Amino acid sequence: MTAPIPYGRQSISESDIQSVVATLKSDWITQGPEITHFENQICNYTSAKYATAVSSATAGLHLACLAAGLGPGDYCWTSPNSFVASANCALYCGAKIDFVDIDPVFYNIDPEKLEIKLRAAKKNGTLPKVIIPVHFAGHSCKMELIEQLASHYGITIIEDASHAIGGSYLHKKIGSCSHSHMVIFSFHPVKIITTGEGGIVVTNNINFKKILDELRSHGIIRSDFEFQKNEPEPWYYEQTSLGFNYRMTDIQATLGSSQLKRIDEFVTKRNQLGSHYNTLLASLPVITPKTADDTLSSLHLYPIQLISKFLKKDRRAIFIGLREAGIGVNVHYIPIPHHPFYQKLGFKPNQFPVSLNYYNNAISLPLYFDLTDSQVELIVEQLKIQLV
Ligand SMILES: *Cc1c(COP(=O)(O)O)cnc(C)c1O
Repeated sequence: MTAPIPYGRQSISESDIQSVVATLKSDWITQGPEITHFENQICNYTSAKYATAVSSATAGLHLACLAAGLGPGDYCWTSPNSFVASANCALYCGAKIDFVDIDPVFYNIDPEKLEIKLRAAKKNGTLPKVIIPVHFAGHSCKMELIEQLASHYGITIIEDASHAIGGSYLHKKIGSCSHSHMVIFSFHPVKIITTGEGGIVVTNNINFKKILDELRSHGIIRSDFEFQKNEPEPWYYEQTSLGFNYRMTDIQATLGSSQLKRIDEFVTKRNQLGSHYNTLLASLPVITPKTADDTLSSLHLYPIQLISKFLKKDRRAIFIGLREAGIGVNVHYIPIPHHPFYQKLGFKPNQFPVSLNYYNNAISLPLYFDLTDSQVELIVEQLKIQLV
């Protein structure tokens, strides 16, 4: 048997390796010129004004929530169909978390449900301070509608675009911050481009940028014109808030800049592989991912829905059969409120029925840059065997 096919993996080129080696031989291996360079490259690519590179998207979400002023007594809303970090970030700030169920087509926060929930929250005095839409699988949420609602109620929008760098919405790159205050990307190895571990927050707001930079590094400032002390000594620095060590290293930033050169190639290839899957799966009892006309998905994932009434086996048996055949399928996501930690916070098992129904039928098929057309064909052959 050949080596198993994973559900996702990084693509590291010889020139990625060369650029990292060059940084290792330089004077700076952390928080040096490569960080600024990478931040500038991300700004050029997304057309956001400012970027703050951090140690992970999780760290970025945490800092973005703090920059938005989220704290004890506040509410934050996000999608139940996401990785737990999308919700944990609000709890780190001492805020309360709640969820808005997804739409059944793109599996993203449903603007209609958001509108209804906001109206009810307004009556109860429980409006959220922050909403975190998640661009599931790389497909943008309906940001225009979400922005209209959020701005009506004065809510800060933080996009969790961990899946979505390289995609676009209404002809603008995800990360342009056209419909939000801050956008977070992840550079974990299964995502579109990687820095090993790493993330970045982009914004068009200079005040958010200042807070993000300060909190990334212990809440310490080092530029004399911002000091509270007059005539500071040459060694002087000031801690002015309670920050963290959420820095990215220069080694990681170099890898990020190098990977960014191939991002459009990565996204194009993912979409080609996605179309190949779509064609091969067309006659099978599964629902393939949909793309809206105004959206380019970066296709971080290729999640299908099994149509169970046409199947003899259940999802669990199909999943195990594929894994045994060396196909690294996965499931995205167990709805966040279903985890024991969130159940203890009081969420009920069937509180978000669309995301639960989606989850119950979901399987993610392998998708990554170095996957080949013939591997896609092999995966679909194996899936067919499992489906009958
Ligand atoms: C991967 C992921 C994160 C966390 O990213 P890290 O860089 O691993 O911290 C957050 N949200 C979503 C939706 C993700 O998929």
